[in-house]
Amino acid sequence: MGRLSRGTAPLLLGGLLGGLLAVLVVAPAPSRAGGGFADLNADATFGADMTFSASWTGAPPDRVELLLGFGGEERLVVPVELVSGQLDYRRDLANGYLPPNTPVAYRWRAVIGTQVTVSPERSLLYDDARPGLDWRQAQVGSATVHWYDANEAIARRFGDLAGGAADAAADLLGHPLADPIDIFVYGAREDFQEAVGPGAREWIGAATYPHLRTVLMWLGAGSTAYLDTTLAHEVTHVVFNDATANPFHEPATWLNEGTATWSELANADTERDLVSLEARRAEGLMAFAALTDQFPIDTRGASLAYAEGTTMVDLIIRDFGTDAMAAIAEAYRSGATDEDAILAGTGVSFEALREEYFAAFGVTEPDPIEPLPLGRSDVPIPPQAGMELAPSAEPQPGSGESQDVAWWLIIGFMALGAVFVATVVLRARRAQPPAGGGNG
Ligand SMILES: [Zn+2]
Repeated sequence: MGRLSRGTAPLLLGGLLGGLLAVLVVAPAPSRAGGGFADLNADATFGADMTFSASWTGAPPDRVELLLGFGGEERLVVPVELVSGQLDYRRDLANGYLPPNTPVAYRWRAVIGTQVTVSPERSLLYDDARPGLDWRQAQVGSATVHWYDANEAIARRFGDLAGGAADAAADLLGHPLADPIDIFVYGAREDFQEAVGPGAREWIGAATYPHLRTVLMWLGAGSTAYLDTTLAHEVTHVVFNDATANPFHEPATWLNEGTATWSELANADTERDLVSLEARRAEGLMAFAALTDQFPIDTRGASLAYAEGTTMVDLIIRDFGTDAMAAIAEAYRSGATDEDAILAGTGVSFEALREEYFAAFGVTEPDPIEPLPLGRSDVPIPPQAGMELAPSAEPQPGSGESQDVAWWLIIGFMALGAVFVATVVLRARRAQPPAGGGNG
C-alpha cells in the first residue's frame, strides 16, 4: 500500500490498482497573466517508471521544464515539450535504479521571456508496491515498521530494538535521531534483491539508505542473533548520518562502519581477534587511508576493513571516552576534515592515533603504494574523422599522443560512470555465511 510521504498534505492518495501506486494531485492552478499549470499528476510503479503530467493554460511558453528532486538530494531539470496544452514526462526506472521509499519532489516551470511561472511543489513517494507485497505497517516508537505475509511479530521486534539502538547511538555520538526511520522487512530473497537493485552485491543481507532514513532487512540473511545485531548496526548508520551531517563531505567510511559495527555489541572483541590474526599474516593490515571511501569487496579485505574500523573506534572510546566520539561528530557537523575531526575529538593527531593503533598489533602502518606510470598504449585504434594516422611503420609521436588521449577519454568516462553509480548512497551489510561469524 502506498504511503503519503512527509509533508504532502495536499495529496490525495489514489487506490492501489494492480500493484500500481497512484498518487493523484489536485493542484490549485496559480493564475498568472502569462498562464498557469493545472491538473498536476504523478504516478510511480516500482522498478518500472515514474510519470508526471500537467496541463498549461495560456500563451505557449518559450520552454517548460520539470524540476525533480530525489530523497532531498539529487536534483534534475528535465525539458518537456508542450503538446496541445498538455505536458507528459515518463522517467524509466527499469534501467535506472532508485531505492524504495524515495520521496520525489517535483515542480513544473514555464518560461516566457523574462517571466517565470512555477507550479507548487508536490511530492510523490516511490515505494515498493510490487504485486504480491501486501505491506502492513505499524508505528513502534521512533520507527515505522513495514512487513508483509506473517512477519508482523519480527517487524514489531525490530521496531523495539531500533528504539534501543537509536538511543545507544545517540548517547555515543552526542546527537539524537533527527527524525523517525522506516524499517522494511522482506521475507523472500528475490523480493529483497529486487528492492536493493541490480547494482547491489549478491551477498547483501541488509541495506540502509541513511539519507532516506530507510532500513531494508532480509529475514533469510542469518540467525535471529545476527538479525538483531544487524538492525542495531543499520540504525546506528542513520544516527551517525544525523550526527555528522554537513554539506562538505562524508566522514571516513572506516569511522562510519566502525561505529556501526562497534554498536552491535558495544565492544570490538571479535574484531580485535581478527585484526591480530591478520597482522601476523604476510598480507598484513591495511592503511586507514585505504579505508576512507569504498571498502574492498573481497571477503578478506572487507572483513579486515570492518574490523580495523571497529577496533579503531574501540581504541578511541577506551582511550578518550564516548565524549570523544561526540566531539568528533560535532566537528564533522561544522565541516571538519577527517584529520581535524579526530584531533578535535581526542586532542591527538590522527597520525599519532594510527601509530598507537598499529603498535598495539605489533606492526607499523603500511606505506601507500605509488602508482606505476601509465605506459604507452599498444592498442590499435581505427581511423576516425579528423585524426591523421601515419602510414609509416616507425613509431610516430603524434599517434602515440592520440592514443594516450583516447585512453584518458576512456578513463574519464569510467570515472564519470563511477560518479553516477555513487549517487545512490547505500550502506550494505553482508548476509551471514553458512558457517556463521562473518561481518559485513
Ligand atoms: Zn554498515
